[in-house]
Amino acid sequence: MHKCQFCGRFLLTSYNQHLAITHEKEWNKIKKEWVKLYNDGLSIKNIATDYHTNVNTVNKAIKDFGKLY
Ligand SMILES: [Zn+2]
Repeated sequence: MHKCQFCGRFLLTSYNQHLAITHEKEWNKIKKEWVKLYNDGLSIKNIATDYHTNVNTVNKAIKDFGKLY
């Protein structure tokens, strides 16, 4: 089980889902970090491992966020 770093709650749903719903601002910040890390040359797999998430989530987030620029 994963503990949320923002509200300290133990999460039954996926961490990203919780972030997207409960901590929208932080979630956007994390996606921005992922885009930056990706542009710095980190692989999506490394980012996913570092943030305890899966490759699909990171891939989708980077794509989604990329549209905002
Ligand atoms: Zn939380």
